[in-house]
Amino acid sequence: MGGQQPEDPAGRRDPGAHRVLRAARPEGTRVRVGAVEVGGPGFVVMAGPCAVEGAEQLELAARAVAQAGAHLLRGGVFKPRTSPYAFQGMGEPGLKLLVDAGRRHGLPIISEVMETEQLPLMAEHSDILQVGARNMQNFGLLRALGRLRKPVLLKRGLSATVQEWLNAAEYILAGGNEQVLLCERGIRTFETSMRNTLDLAAVAWAKERTHLPVIVDPSHATGIPSLITPMSLAAAACGADGLLIEVHPRPEQALCDGQQAMSPGDFATLMQRLPGVLAAVDRHLWTPAVPAQIAGAR
Ligand code: PEP
Ligand code: MN
Repeated sequence: MGGQQPEDPAGRRDPGAHRVLRAARPEGTRVRVGAVEVGGPGFVVMAGPCAVEGAEQLELAARAVAQAGAHLLRGGVFKPRTSPYAFQGMGEPGLKLLVDAGRRHGLPIISEVMETEQLPLMAEHSDILQVGARNMQNFGLLRALGRLRKPVLLKRGLSATVQEWLNAAEYILAGGNEQVLLCERGIRTFETSMRNTLDLAAVAWAKERTHLPVIVDPSHATGIPSLITPMSLAAAACGADGLLIEVHPRPEQALCDGQQAMSPGDFATLMQRLPGVLAAVDRHLWTPAVPAQIAGAR
C-alpha cells in the first residue's frame, strides 16, 4: 500500500490509498442522510424497486418498505443495462416520482448516477448518489463526485479486488468528499448457480481496513429472492452497517431485475428478523434519537 510514504509534491510518487484507511479515522466515519445516520450503532436499511417504472408501482413499493420499517427508498431512474434494447430507466420524470414518493413516506432517497452529465440533476434531488458496479472505475465520475459534498454509495465492481474498490473510494475522498459508503454487491467467480458470489469476508475486511461504512446488497449478490433473507442476516452478523435491497410490489411484472425482487411480505418478515441478529452483535435497527427532554420525561 505504501501509505506511509510522503506525497511527492510533483505528484509523481503514488502514496497509495491512505485517506480511506482505518488509521486515518480510527473512530470510523458516520454519514448523515437527512435524519438518518449510517456507520453508527444503528443499522440502516435501503429498499425499493430496481427501477422506477411509474407512479403506481413506485407508490406501492414505497408504502410497503416504509410500513415495514425501511430507512431509505431506492429506485433507479438511469439504468445500466447489459442490452441497449432493455428498459433504460425513466430518467428525469422518474426522479420526480422518486422524490415525491420519498417525501410522502418520510424516506430519503438513493438513486444511481451513471454519467458525469447527470450529476447536477442527481446531486440536487437524490440524498445518496449510487455509483453502480460497472462504473466503479469511471475515474472522471469519481473525481466529479469528489468535488461534491454529498453521500456517495460506491458499489464494488463486478471483478474488482478489495484493493481496487478502496482505491476507487480514495478518488472520492482525495477530492475532499468524505461521505462515502462502500457497497458489496457480489463478484464474478466460477460459480454460476447464483447471479454473483456474495463476498462477506470482504465486508468484514473492509470494516477492519477502512473507516468507511459498508453496505451489503444481497439482491444483486445472489439474484435469488429466497437467499436475500439469510444473506441479509449474515451481513448484519458480520459487521455490515446496512442493506440495499430490491423490493417490487409485483416482481413478475418488473421491467428490470424482477427475478431477484423481494415481495413486500418477505421484506416485512426480514425487517422483523433483523433485530434479533443485530442484538447479538451489539447493534440495532436505526431509529431517530429521542430528544433529551422527552427521554427525561419517560
Ligand atoms: C442496481 O442497484 O440496480 C444495480 C444496477 O446494481 P449493480 O451496479 O450492483 O449491478
Ligand atoms: Mn437492479
